[in-house]
Amino acid sequence: MDASLNNRTTAGIVARANALFEDLSFTTAREWKKADPSRKVVGYMPIYVPREIIHAAGMLPLGILGGGDQLEVIHGDAYYQSYICRIPRSTIELAVSGRLDFVDGMLFPSICDVIRNLSGMWKLMFPNVYTRYFDVPQNFRDEIGGSYYVSELEHLRHDLGEMRGKPITDEELRHSIALYNENRRLVRELYTFRAERPWQAPAPEVYLMMRAGLVLPVEEHTVMLRDYLAAARAEDRPRRDNCRVVLTGAFCEQPPLSLIKSLELSGCYVVDDDLLLVTRWLTGDVPTEGDPLRNLSDAFLHHSESTAAKYEPDLKEKGQHLVRAVKRTGAEGVIFAAPSFCDPALLDRPMLLRVLDGAGIPYIAFKYAENSSQMQPIREQAGTFADSIKLWSGT
Ligand code: SF4
Repeated sequence: MDASLNNRTTAGIVARANALFEDLSFTTAREWKKADPSRKVVGYMPIYVPREIIHAAGMLPLGILGGGDQLEVIHGDAYYQSYICRIPRSTIELAVSGRLDFVDGMLFPSICDVIRNLSGMWKLMFPNVYTRYFDVPQNFRDEIGGSYYVSELEHLRHDLGEMRGKPITDEELRHSIALYNENRRLVRELYTFRAERPWQAPAPEVYLMMRAGLVLPVEEHTVMLRDYLAAARAEDRPRRDNCRVVLTGAFCEQPPLSLIKSLELSGCYVVDDDLLLVTRWLTGDVPTEGDPLRNLSDAFLHHSESTAAKYEPDLKEKGQHLVRAVKRTGAEGVIFAAPSFCDPALLDRPMLLRVLDGAGIPYIAFKYAENSSQMQPIREQAGTFADSIKLWSGT
């Protein structure tokens, strides 16, 4: 990194986050592990796992999001049929090429059949790695879904305790919950700041800040967020004549960074998104008093983000989170961007479009892959969308 950059400027902080983003060997996590022979690393896939439990075991939760547009998939294609998304192939590629050989455990959250199958393959391919398909409730009543989820959390707590050779205590869990509460507060603060002044915290930078949170220890990431917020508030940046949009559908396989940059360059300030939801899945503080697992479960059931991968039992509520996001952030439109062949995002899309039609909110929709390189069609579509919004709104 350029020595003139430091952690007091947005450029310095973003350069560090970008280096973490580009490092598909996960050097920082490897070094964290090497510093103490008792340390272990537990990887997880999108979109949500209770990182607090991994942290309470003294382990590093490591977000694994495929290979992006930097990794050539050579072996990964042989494991899957053609017509599915790319993230499982590039995740397999990361593993068979040795890039994940320091990872002691992998959690595959319940999101779709692809991730479920990947967890089974992982068990067969890497029998020495602790592998768990992490199921979450689709019933949101405390006595049914809640009891089920607490037992799932208990299971994970037990397994990770066994891995480290000592049970995880309630105190350890409460301490980790407090650290993640602080981290989520800063994430919310950053999202609020960007919604107010998107030219001061451009979407690609906010994305890199969130990505860093998937590979850094939470304590370090909290410091990074605080530094970035202070630097972004202090720097004056030119304001473009962009419209304001909510980006949705990109909660699992990530769009290439160039796509997020292209949206802003074509005239759309992203003022809210569902990228990297694990960083803000729980929408409020989790209490640090009482039963920590019950508290994590309550937060999941009653205070968590809406997304296509989470069942919405109330049909009238379906899609309302998008309408609320538009109102909360003063957005003028919604961009649906989903990975090709992503069942959860694409099956949800027609229902969400109907809700936006009803609310009179303009939108566009397209698909991408994590290694999409042709940005011109997306730039043209987003640019035309931005122009038409300005025309309709008369600004
Ligand atoms: S991108 Fe969509 S289909 Fe693919 S693994 Fe993720 S949620 Fe499943």
